[in-house]
Amino acid sequence: MTIEEMRQTVHAWTKQSYAEHLFAGTSGNLSAYDADSGIMVITPTSRPYETILPEDMVAMKLDGTVLEGKWKPSSEWRLHAELYKAFPEAGAVVHTHSPYATGFAVAHQPIPCILIEMVPFLGGGVPLADYATPGTNEVGTYAAAAMQGGHYGCLMANHGAVAIGKDLEQAHIRAVYIEDAARICAYAKGIGTVHTMSEENIQDMIRVAAENAKK
Ligand SMILES: [Zn+2]
Repeated sequence: MTIEEMRQTVHAWTKQSYAEHLFAGTSGNLSAYDADSGIMVITPTSRPYETILPEDMVAMKLDGTVLEGKWKPSSEWRLHAELYKAFPEAGAVVHTHSPYATGFAVAHQPIPCILIEMVPFLGGGVPLADYATPGTNEVGTYAAAAMQGGHYGCLMANHGAVAIGKDLEQAHIRAVYIEDAARICAYAKGIGTVHTMSEENIQDMIRVAAENAKK
């Protein structure tokens, strides 16, 4: 993919995510990464999403070297860079401050595996990463540590949520499912006891999905 194509894609998914209230103000940030060229295209820092344009996206290396861009990259570019280093299969990162997921992050509660969709889309429950000072490498290394064991996203204590994917379409839908799971879990907590899916339920789902894929 060319830098121009990456800019267009990051811009399109940023506009959609903002319209879906996955983040507010100038918070939240998205990126795409091309492992062949080592180039990451990321949203700029502190630009209003209502008027943001594809050319506002910043092309940079994972070491912080800016290649092309009118603006500074997102102040959380290290979060994105650390996740690409930790998960070589990742080609996109979506970092949100979506309200229900962030509520769990503020309560320091992971989201248990409570819904069938969480198994294929999120790798089960959504773990909680330890608090890290914004703008540091630790924001990314703590998130990567929390996601070990096959999780596609995590909550970030007192901050928000993050999801990875092979492309922005996949990372975005995972970010949407994190928020959906958090909202439904919050409803269930208000109604009564939250019943998590058993390990047997989860393993059965994985087995049936694998069998059906072969047919
Ligand atoms: Zn953030």
